[in-house]
Amino acid sequence: MKGIRNITPYIPGEQPNYPAMIKLNTNENPYPPSPNVAKVLKQFETEQLKRYSSIDNLSLKKALGIKHGLSPDHFLIGNGSDEVLAFCFLAFFNSQDPILFPDITYGFYKVWANLFKVPFKELPLNNDFEIALDDYKQINGGIIIANPNAPTGLFKPLAEIEALLEENKDVIVIIDEAYIDFADQSAVVLLETYPNLVVIRTLSKSSSLAGLRVGYAIGNPKYIQVVESIKSSFNPYSVDIIAENLAIAAVEDEKYYAQITRNICKTRDWFAKNIETFGFSSLISQTNFVLLTHPNLTIETLYHYLEAKDVFVRYFPKIERLTNYLRVSIGTQEEMEKVLRLMSDFVEINEQ
Ligand SMILES: *Cc1c(COP(=O)(O)O)cnc(C)c1O
Repeated sequence: MKGIRNITPYIPGEQPNYPAMIKLNTNENPYPPSPNVAKVLKQFETEQLKRYSSIDNLSLKKALGIKHGLSPDHFLIGNGSDEVLAFCFLAFFNSQDPILFPDITYGFYKVWANLFKVPFKELPLNNDFEIALDDYKQINGGIIIANPNAPTGLFKPLAEIEALLEENKDVIVIIDEAYIDFADQSAVVLLETYPNLVVIRTLSKSSSLAGLRVGYAIGNPKYIQVVESIKSSFNPYSVDIIAENLAIAAVEDEKYYAQITRNICKTRDWFAKNIETFGFSSLISQTNFVLLTHPNLTIETLYHYLEAKDVFVRYFPKIERLTNYLRVSIGTQEEMEKVLRLMSDFVEINEQ
């Protein structure tokens, strides 16, 4: 048939759903959203739904402005950061020169580059699975880096991000900070100095709101305006009225989220340390997941073993360097204790 697109879609982690499962395959938060979110949802007046949602999301931008110490025109809100990222690709990556991103990173970057016909180069991570920023010193049409990176969990210090911005002042550098609340330091402080920086955030991971679909871009108002134009050319009301109201409640409850983030980081570090007792090792994570391996066990077998015990983790059979790695999202302490026990059973069964 003439004129039909042939495309390879992004394949997200599965979404099994039954009470006994432990779901650690898509980096969701094991804790519920802020109680304020529940309160606002309960009080929501259904009558409001007869109107279109806000065209400028100004209330949410104001709340974000207070959180980040920036004026509302630094923000663009979207239906999950996936949508925000797609809009940013359309807004910023229009050069003949290839955009650059790591060969092992968030799988959606390559999907969008193909979908929007943006030329791209995937630059290999180094032997320690770190982003080799020296390789980015080449002609390019823009750069996108997840920091911390996924699925490695590794974090690049701010000085290195700053050097990247300094070397690429003529293109937009997108830093995807989906996991930044579990890490040391955000690049947002560099925004005033580097107008070529655009930071992407999501409420899906650290704010326990994956199902709400809210993400945002932070950048120089001049460039954010271009993304707004893309959004207006596509789906101006992409953030629904309930989502905007609940997102505000979440953004305003910093105290609750600081607490659950601390819990997750504590459990993460406990888990990373304790799997070593059974011969596993993991990359040093500044996210809510760990990428783990074992020197003499087949990790794919562990993946199926855990699945049979209702524990879902992420395995990447198509990424050659990761075929003996599993990405395990950090659940509650209780869940991770159970996973640790299963891993120790698995070692016992398989290691003789
Ligand atoms: C989860 C994730 C996203 C997408 O988040 P949503 O806001 O739920 O669309 C984007 N980038 C990275 C690196 C992620 O891990």
